[in-house]
Amino acid sequence: MTGKIRFAPSPTGYLHEGHLLSALYVWAAAKKWGLHVHLRIEDHDRGRTRQAYIDGIREDLEWLGFTHDSESIQSERTAIYQGVLEKLIEKDLIYPCTCSRKQLEAENPKSETGEIIYQGKCRSLAGHCLDNSIPPHNLRFKATDKVINWNDYRLGSFNENPATQCGDFPIRDREGSWTYQFAVCVDDIDQDITHIIRGEDIRNSTARQIVLSESICEVLGRPYKQPFYLHHALIADASGKKLSKRELAHSIRQDKEQGISPEELFGRVLFKAGIHPANNPTSLSEAIGEIAESL
Ligand code: GLU
Ligand code: ZN
Repeated sequence: MTGKIRFAPSPTGYLHEGHLLSALYVWAAAKKWGLHVHLRIEDHDRGRTRQAYIDGIREDLEWLGFTHDSESIQSERTAIYQGVLEKLIEKDLIYPCTCSRKQLEAENPKSETGEIIYQGKCRSLAGHCLDNSIPPHNLRFKATDKVINWNDYRLGSFNENPATQCGDFPIRDREGSWTYQFAVCVDDIDQDITHIIRGEDIRNSTARQIVLSESICEVLGRPYKQPFYLHHALIADASGKKLSKRELAHSIRQDKEQGISPEELFGRVLFKAGIHPANNPTSLSEAIGEIAESL
């Protein structure tokens, strides 16, 4: 094996068609390039995680026939995140932010994607971030002000500056949950992930994950190498729009309970993703093979 790829669902719901498409891409890449497949349950958000979803994701993957080589769950890795946080604090790369949601909205400009570009109001806030005497706060990472050049296997080259995309961004939220951005970077580094394949909806996170990963590697004394990135197109509905919340809420589990087979599901997803011209039942190995060929 020449590398390692991960499938990283968040257990804030059951698996849906969007996950299924990502999984097919991940396993197709693994087949094509001989990669180790790591299953990572991204339960960093303590408020939205449910044990039923964690169990459901594992069961559904098994029912669909996806097998992985290793597995981890973020809630068991708190000590690792805490250790990295402390090293980042030592390098003065983290600070507490007490801004409320309302203040953030009122006081900061937005990017064209509608995202708040945090202007760094709390950068000079007195008080150490591990000191709980300050009011409720999240912890922000000082986003390096530089243009990141990165390449997407499907979409080509990007030049993006996190400082102007989002500004300093949270790595731990007010409730004490590690953020997606932080946990994913620590895990990708710590688990030696070489290939990242995920939906286009997360593409915008890539540049900030690269600057954060560079800093994490630096404090850990490890070399940093940009992983291979592929952000696949999202499943569209009949009118070409991406799936609505309601459609995404329709789970694979519901289909399974209604007697729909994995083959029917693979066929349907390949069709909806525009990979297959017709909606025909397709086996897992055919579906993976077909995507692998398109890579
Ligand atoms: N956990 C994320 C999700 O379910 C995916 C993270 C990633 O692939 O970077 O949307
Ligand atoms: Zn603030």
